[in-house]
Amino acid sequence: MQQTVLVIEDNEQSLYMITFILTQHGYEVVQARNGREGITLASQVQPVLILLDIQLPLLDGYAVAQALRSNPALAQVPIIAVTSYAMAGDRERILAAGCTGYIEKPIDPGTFVRHIAQYLSIGPSGHGGGP
Ligand code: MN
Repeated sequence: MQQTVLVIEDNEQSLYMITFILTQHGYEVVQARNGREGITLASQVQPVLILLDIQLPLLDGYAVAQALRSNPALAQVPIIAVTSYAMAGDRERILAAGCTGYIEKPIDPGTFVRHIAQYLSIGPSGHGGGP
């Protein structure tokens, strides 16, 4: 069964790139282009992980993360903020809002999926790389 990743991102270029990379790696991607849509879809599609832009129309990423965390059904889903301005204060704000971690833009296609996979290693993940 394919794992669904919900991507909440209003920038078409970023959304396209993230979707492309994840699809290439076998994930099913559900897209939301604003905060409200993201909250609605999160409870509908049961994603294994949520990628969350911070600067979003209607509701920003902080508000979205808080709303997602207030839903018991989504309390355990990793939420990764994708942000271009992870400055010192924002980093703490991101985590305080309920995000599990963050990835900085611009996204590095070479490390993106590996980075995300770290947050998915809930089940057996015996792919330890030898030397
Ligand atoms: Mn944005």
